[in-house]
Amino acid sequence: MCGIVGYVGPRTAAPILLDGLQRLEYRGYDSAGIAILTPERKIEIKKTQGRLSVLLDALQGSTPPGYLGLGHTRWATHGEPNEINAHPHADCDGRLVVVHNGIIENYGSLREGLRAKGHHFTSETDTEVLAHLIEEEYRGHQGPDEFVTAVRRALKQARGAYALAAFCAEEPELLVGARLFSPMVVGLGSGENYLASDIPALLPYTRQALIVEDGEIVALDREGASIWNLEGVAISREPFHIGWDLEAAEKGGYPHFMLKEIYEEPQVIANALRGRLDGERVLLPEVDKLDLAKIQKAYIVACGTSHYAGLVGKRLIEEFARLPAESIIASEFRYSNPVLDQNTLVILISQSGETADTLAAFRLAKESGAPTLVVANVLGSSITRGADAVLYLQAGPEICVVATKTYLAMLAVLTLLALDLGQRRGLLAHSQIAPILQELRDLSAKVDRVLDGAEAIAEIARRYADRKNFFFIGRGWDYPSALEGALKLKEISYLHAEGYPAGELKHGPIALLDPEVPVMALATPGPLYEKIISNIQEVKARRAKVLAVAAEGDKEITHHADEVLWIPRTLEPLSPILSAVPLQLFAYYVARERGCDIDKPRNLAKSVTVE
Ligand code: GLU
Repeated sequence: MCGIVGYVGPRTAAPILLDGLQRLEYRGYDSAGIAILTPERKIEIKKTQGRLSVLLDALQGSTPPGYLGLGHTRWATHGEPNEINAHPHADCDGRLVVVHNGIIENYGSLREGLRAKGHHFTSETDTEVLAHLIEEEYRGHQGPDEFVTAVRRALKQARGAYALAAFCAEEPELLVGARLFSPMVVGLGSGENYLASDIPALLPYTRQALIVEDGEIVALDREGASIWNLEGVAISREPFHIGWDLEAAEKGGYPHFMLKEIYEEPQVIANALRGRLDGERVLLPEVDKLDLAKIQKAYIVACGTSHYAGLVGKRLIEEFARLPAESIIASEFRYSNPVLDQNTLVILISQSGETADTLAAFRLAKESGAPTLVVANVLGSSITRGADAVLYLQAGPEICVVATKTYLAMLAVLTLLALDLGQRRGLLAHSQIAPILQELRDLSAKVDRVLDGAEAIAEIARRYADRKNFFFIGRGWDYPSALEGALKLKEISYLHAEGYPAGELKHGPIALLDPEVPVMALATPGPLYEKIISNIQEVKARRAKVLAVAAEGDKEITHHADEVLWIPRTLEPLSPILSAVPLQLFAYYVARERGCDIDKPRNLAKSVTVE
């Protein structure tokens, strides 16, 4: 995980690179660096440990001149996050530089081989071998084609995952990029061109973009971009227009991206449903590509918050489509020797579409001949390519490292998918589906109502922000919500929070309860309501404080809970969508109270592109 940005054109490169890095900082912030080719054809590298702001302070407004350059924000995998390991990395003579996102798995043996040939390494990174490999291949050669060929030859020796960008001092108008399992886009300007890990970096400069695909190499000069595969065969690709506006990628007046993104949720639900509800039917033409008659089972595979969406998805699919479904963490799934065949649908969920473990599970599914259906947010991301069907979240860019709006979008899309599968399997009569669709249409307004109560949630959060440990409990549809609520609190407030099935509490963890450990109980209406009330009693008997998420009009809960976070009433299978919102707000306000770095929590990265 890292952010790469590159520029070639008539303008001074440094400000464009630094601006692009700012928009990509959510991708990693262990260090930041830029490399510029100066008019004297010297490569100047400026890099610092820590966030981009440290680099900006170090530069004090004075950046190297030059019209060709690269920038990088790092999320370290090999070598500590210090200045020496920060990218860009140069060859022995400082005549070429590279920035890299991903992992070179065989870097150890490559480095030994290069050392034996006399190369000197300065960093502990896997990335640096790429600089020396290119140097080795480029020696004695001249001309832009030779440099591209050298990069191509170097990459043929590397195993692993990369998005790579490089330039050399001999070619003042040539930027080379390449990718394998890590994202890379080209921005096409007029007389100038850009490379970036992600679209937000391009938004202020151009709306015309090209996706670089896995196993491809791209050469940019001022006039345009040429793409080849690693065998050197030229590839032609049409540019596409970026529909996102810059505003959508910026904070829009909120103190944090997280809060902004939570407040986007009513719109996000509407966008997820857009074009997919036709009167009394769900319309997902994307699913047409699957041969559903064959499918006997579904696996849902994902990581983190997406996995919790998957747990809800499993229930939705079993409820509406009566198809056996299992939701499994991607890093476990791929090593569990799962039984996969053409009758098993594998549903993969990833906001970024670049999550390494989910991508690996995706490849495993494909190799096993299982049909794949991807749920992702980022258009053209790695996991969407080669999938039998893709359902996009249509949620726009999510900048805050922790997922909020995309979780709601995932739940909305999984609901549509489950209903669509139910329709196709002939299980859902119009009379059954109509009230569900009506409720889905009303969800945006209901999320809005939760947001109207944000101040009350902030007040509760203030009262509990000094606690060290929390439990989140729920049953049935509320159980994944408890897991996700606990994860949100952990991620941004650094408090210990455990999500637990409420019925399991008495089988162990109840030993941890005392008056200092608040318990957030999900108590939405449904057949298990009385059971959760009993669990709340068990908690109260240990003198723990109880906070409850409950539905408006529930008088009973006020007799049991010390605090209530209210949500509007809805159908049980849709309640996880509403329950998520007060829990996100609760986590947000606790973290704010504790002065945490909400949008960029320590040790986390937005999309985890390493295993
Ligand atoms: N493996 C490289 C490093 O540790 C790149 C990591 C990244 O994607 O930022 O420097």
